[in-house]
Amino acid sequence: MKQFPFWVDDYPRPDGLTSELPDETDYLIVGTGLTGMSAGLRLAEAGHGVTLIDAGEIAGGASSVNGGMVSPDIKAGVDTVHAFYGPKVAAEMWASSVRSVDLIKDLDQRPGIDALIHEGGLAALGRGGRQLRAFDRDVAWYRKRFAVEWEVLDARTIHEVVGGDYFNVGIYEPEGIGVHPARLSFGLATEVKRAGAVMVEHCEATGMEKNDGGLRVSTNKGSIRSGEVILATNGYTTREPSKELARLMVPVGSYIIATEPLGLRRAESVFPGGAMTYTRKRLLNYMRRTPDDRLLIGGRRNLATNLDLGESAADLRESLITYWPDLEDVEITHVWGGQLGIPFDLIPHIGRIDGAWYAMGYGGHGVGLSVQLGYELAGMLLGEDPPSIFSQIPHNGKFYYGGKRPWFLTPASVLYRTLDKVGM
Ligand SMILES: Cc1cc2nc3c(=O)[nH]c(=O)nc-3n(C[C@H](O)[C@H](O)[C@H](O)COP(=O)(O)OP(=O)(O)OC[C@H]3O[C@@H](n4cnc5c(N)ncnc54)[C@H](O)[C@@H]3O)c2cc1C
Repeated sequence: MKQFPFWVDDYPRPDGLTSELPDETDYLIVGTGLTGMSAGLRLAEAGHGVTLIDAGEIAGGASSVNGGMVSPDIKAGVDTVHAFYGPKVAAEMWASSVRSVDLIKDLDQRPGIDALIHEGGLAALGRGGRQLRAFDRDVAWYRKRFAVEWEVLDARTIHEVVGGDYFNVGIYEPEGIGVHPARLSFGLATEVKRAGAVMVEHCEATGMEKNDGGLRVSTNKGSIRSGEVILATNGYTTREPSKELARLMVPVGSYIIATEPLGLRRAESVFPGGAMTYTRKRLLNYMRRTPDDRLLIGGRRNLATNLDLGESAADLRESLITYWPDLEDVEITHVWGGQLGIPFDLIPHIGRIDGAWYAMGYGGHGVGLSVQLGYELAGMLLGEDPPSIFSQIPHNGKFYYGGKRPWFLTPASVLYRTLDKVGM
């Protein structure tokens, strides 16, 4: 078993993306994931000088290694936003999340990108009467507000989406799509370079200070002055270059295993239409077919970012076999992990801190939203779009978190596991 992302093994990062750090730029973007590159592409195509830097490799954060599941909505659910901020804010966030799916499809039309999009829908999976009633309520709410064509799946219809006997209720959302994350991210990087932006890897932003109407950012490769700075560091946000930002974003780990290719017939016996799926729990699993008919299952036993990959693989395999006991003989070929950025309200945010802009906080719902928020932030900075709805609500930290050592993740994991077990 390789301890390496299947996606990047399948589609390696192209050579020739990275350059030297210039002294000056119009826009400096810290983080070369989907957020940073989406913003960078729009700004560079508008004719501005754009430099993107990354502490690691280009798109080496969550963007190239995730589950590749894209659908409207946000981690908190716009029903929660509706309860706190009212119908107008909820409707705007919903509309933006719907546009995110279209934006990925549009990007996929570009010459440098072929993300192997699969339009097979997304399904939440569950078991039993209590979950069925909750699914009924959710579907009724979203149908009434946003005229979605979601369906509740019961014991009669569930097998259109998932094989086996474990899951017997669900929600099917037809607009959900699957992408190959490495193809999407590295393809986008190619487009960013084609648009004239400069990308520098292994270049960590370590500090920022005001300088002549802009900011000077120090890095391990020297310093750079920029008119505007965008922090697009999401789950990899640390106290450098902004302690204040680190207080707002809790890094959480997520882990994935991939099986050997199963062949079309066997893969279809698990996911007949190739829908992207997830279990509706706090410590959830997400599962899908890959374009080469492997199965991929992700999740975590604990929210920490430093879990042992071998143990995570064993945990995830156990879930796989619990859901589909027939897969006992299947070989696991890859295990890997990555970091999500979780804001305390589970709502993505665009904001301004220490003189820089930021866009982040997607939870496990960030493939579409990162591209969308990067695009929206660039539109705001260019003066082409009104302020994004994600920049219009308060973004607060908690007094007990200073941006280092999120001690509360382990007790929260224990609580979540217990609540999941009793079905609350
Ligand atoms: C295992 C896993 C599975 C997931 N599955 C899904 C899914 O199926 N569907 C979905 O919608 N979402 C999913 N997500 C979430 C989604 O991948 C992320 O929300 C999204 O990729 C975030 O993109 P980003 O560009 O904001 O951040 P990232 O892609 O994480 O990029 C942040 C970058 O910032 C860089 N950085 C940090 N600090 C500095 C610094 N000081 N200087 C320079 N660079 C810095 C990092 O090196 C990193 O490359 C998953 C995430 C993980 C980890």
